Amino acid sequence: MDVKDSIQFLKGVGETRAKQLAKLGLFTVEDLLRFYPRGYIDYNHPYPVAMAPYEGMCVVKATVYGKQLPMRIRGGRTIYRVTAGDDTAGLLLTFFNSPYAARGLEENRDYLFYGRVGGALARREMVSPTYVPADGSLPMTPVYHLTEGVNSKYIAKLVGTALTGCGAITDPLPEVLRQKYRLPDLRRTLEMIHTPKNEDEVTAARRRLVFEELYYLQLGMKLMRSINLRANRAVMANTDLTAFYNALPFTPTGAQQRAITEIASDLCGKTPMNRLLQGDVGSGKTLVAAAAMVIAAQNGFQSVLMAPTEILAQQHANTLQGMLRPLGIEVALLTGSVRAKPRRVLLEAIATGAAQVVVGTHAVLSDDVIFHRLGFAVTDEQHRFGVRQRGLLAAKAESPHLLVMSATPIPRTLSLLLFGELDVSILDELPPGRTPIKTYAVTTALRGRMFGFLEKQIEAGRQVFIVCPLIDESDGDSPAAHEMQAVTTYFEEVAKQFLPHRRIGLMHGRLRPTEKAQVMQQFASGELDVICSTTVIEVGVDVPNASVMVIENAERYGLSALHQLRGRVGRGAAESFCILVSDHDSEEVHSRLALMCHTNDGFAVAQYDLEHRGPGDFFGERQHGLPRLKVADAMQDARVLETAAAEAATLLSEDPKLTAPKNAPLRHEVEKLFELGGGLAIN
Ligand code: ADP
Ligand code: MG
Repeated sequence: MDVKDSIQFLKGVGETRAKQLAKLGLFTVEDLLRFYPRGYIDYNHPYPVAMAPYEGMCVVKATVYGKQLPMRIRGGRTIYRVTAGDDTAGLLLTFFNSPYAARGLEENRDYLFYGRVGGALARREMVSPTYVPADGSLPMTPVYHLTEGVNSKYIAKLVGTALTGCGAITDPLPEVLRQKYRLPDLRRTLEMIHTPKNEDEVTAARRRLVFEELYYLQLGMKLMRSINLRANRAVMANTDLTAFYNALPFTPTGAQQRAITEIASDLCGKTPMNRLLQGDVGSGKTLVAAAAMVIAAQNGFQSVLMAPTEILAQQHANTLQGMLRPLGIEVALLTGSVRAKPRRVLLEAIATGAAQVVVGTHAVLSDDVIFHRLGFAVTDEQHRFGVRQRGLLAAKAESPHLLVMSATPIPRTLSLLLFGELDVSILDELPPGRTPIKTYAVTTALRGRMFGFLEKQIEAGRQVFIVCPLIDESDGDSPAAHEMQAVTTYFEEVAKQFLPHRRIGLMHGRLRPTEKAQVMQQFASGELDVICSTTVIEVGVDVPNASVMVIENAERYGLSALHQLRGRVGRGAAESFCILVSDHDSEEVHSRLALMCHTNDGFAVAQYDLEHRGPGDFFGERQHGLPRLKVADAMQDARVLETAAAEAATLLSEDPKLTAPKNAPLRHEVEKLFELGGGLAIN
């Protein structure tokens, strides 16, 4: 048997089982072997009953005292209760509908029970624990993520069959690396991760898996980057920006000027630019990009700016037009909603070079968008785009200069992971004349007063954003439909009960891009007083007259997300407010919201998020578009990440495209990780 074989080749897998396993993403023997346990039950270190961590999963050792008579309860269910305990406390065991589980227990015998401990201190409780008799030493038992019909025992057995059935397992990780870092080979690793004898084996296996994962990741990132790591094909000469500056209604900040100088020197350099422009919301990143576009245009090159949403693209196009038209530079807007005929005209203008600057959504990646001479590519709010999309954008020209704009402060280790090695320019200075946003945290009990306040603001000619309650990640078929329902209900309530005489707009993800753009346009032009929205307004939208941002269910968001939302207001000179609504009563929520009330500093906010919630939250679920890491953790394994990056660079210096026959298994792993099917983006 080979690891590439279908999982149905394994004994014990019929058609039904195969379907269940497919739900877990397991199709081949290899998938199964790479399906690591999410944890282990270690029966060798049980807790005394009274010491068991409350509400956590753990193993306790207890003696069975006696069994109670089965009881019928509602819904035709039967519960079986067993009393047990040790000399520290009593333990009540409850099993629902499973006579076998209770029957298997003998009185006056010791058992190890695994489950969640609840109840009171005097008598602890466990519901439906798994158990084994407490005699002799026991292996660690793997616990897997499960789907209906499949339990951990079944998976463990299947893994055993697979490991025995597969002869040799090719190890893609080069032996030199395994020796250098003392990593076990693949077969041994898989054995140790699935059936460890002790914790040391888990640690050893995990070390290898972390290294391997980060190594493949770095190989993939570097391969994609190498598309544009040849010589600078878009060599530019520094140009005079005086006319550009003179046409601006304001003076650039010192930070903006510094960033522009850094970028200008990249554009004239030997290798293509690969730079991150990082600046808090409102720090004026667009102007910096515009300056670079001027340099490109004056050197005869086109520029492209890609934004994550249609609204943002629209807004960028307007802003850039304002800044570039006076210099005679043409800006074109290309989004998914441009109809066939005008689209053809646009494509023509792009192909001839008449459109010197192209702004758009991912529509600009489409195959038929062919640039005459692209020299400079910018992506805004980068972490919303996949690594893949960035690669595709770079592939629109031989090796354009790349600029990534982000409002989220990114620590070095993460930027290494996300972007490969890149240079960073930071806008650490806000344009003058901004009044800091005042932030308040309130409960829903104050809703009446809050709307009273909004009424006054509207009366004074200001506008209001309301981010509506989030809905739970629903088990139902369509979260988007639920979300639309929730925001619509909220909207109707506000319109009827709280702000009956005001013009209120509704915005959610189910609207078509053109509809969204229209609502946003009405808001921007002052035809609406209030906009009730889901988080689709999250990024970048600029409405200087909006002075209040209300966020319902504020506890549901990471602080960086709250900060981004808050950044939608405070863009004009008027005093601005952010109201965080939450009825959540935990310490943690209190301290997080308190931090928001005390600081307007995006870096402080991001740092707090990173320390308290980890990088996952930091970037929002899966928004960064990187492959999902199964084992490694970008923050905790930062040291390994650096090593893996260095080793990946070494290998690629010998085999730049990873095409040497001996590296074929490696290439296969990299393509699998990036789901590149055929290596599309890395050739
Ligand atoms: P962000 O960095 O969040 O993308 P923008 O580029 O949208 O910020 O700029 C935010 C606002 O600040 C815009 O209305 C822009 O016109 C204004 N702005 C940018 N630079 C300056 C400056 N140097 N002085 C005054 N206002 C500025
Ligand atoms: Mg912006």
